[in-house]
Amino acid sequence: MTIPSTIAYIGLGSNLSEPIKQVKSAINEIKSIAQCQVTAISSLYLSKPMGPQDQDDYINAVLALKTSLPAIELLNALQAIENKSGRVRKENRWGARILDLDIILFGNNIINTERLTIPHYGMTEREFVLLPLAEIAPTLSLPNGESVKYLSQNITHNTMVKLN
Ligand code: ATP
Ligand code: CA
Ligand code: CA
Repeated sequence: MTIPSTIAYIGLGSNLSEPIKQVKSAINEIKSIAQCQVTAISSLYLSKPMGPQDQDDYINAVLALKTSLPAIELLNALQAIENKSGRVRKENRWGARILDLDIILFGNNIINTERLTIPHYGMTEREFVLLPLAEIAPTLSLPNGESVKYLSQNITHNTMVKLN
């Protein structure tokens, strides 16, 4: 029997409590989610915060995984990892956080439910998503056919720095 599997791309971000450690430890946690196999991990990037500027810079990365989980169960597992890191959900949008794990793409699926919007609604405008994504998936296209490489080359470049 073949196990159905989807390739999903996860965006990671942190700007609190030793962000590099947070992102590396989240990568390890994601590796241990049942029914998930991490297949590629981007470099870490340093980026300026989005929204409120009175917060530290972010560490961002993107990873690819293969999973037989439905998207909502993957979200549950990622939110459990966010909670375990000590993330406290606050009212202010885009404020400082210990760990943020977003599902950027889930195969070629288009999902619009109360808890999930996939592709991630901000992915085509966010340098900290497109650059690491293009690094690990240069030939990838969105469900609507847009090329990740093209999007990443045409985004307004800010001050993002690749760390390794
Ligand atoms: P943004 O969504 O602009 O990146 P954020 O990551 O700070 O902001 P959160 O507070 O982490 O937002 O998440 C709010 C809700 O977004 C989550 O509870 C989740 O249900 C929902 N959500 C919708 N689509 C996605 C997705 N593709 N990946 C992760 N969460 C999602
Ligand atoms: Ca986010
Ligand atoms: Ca999020």
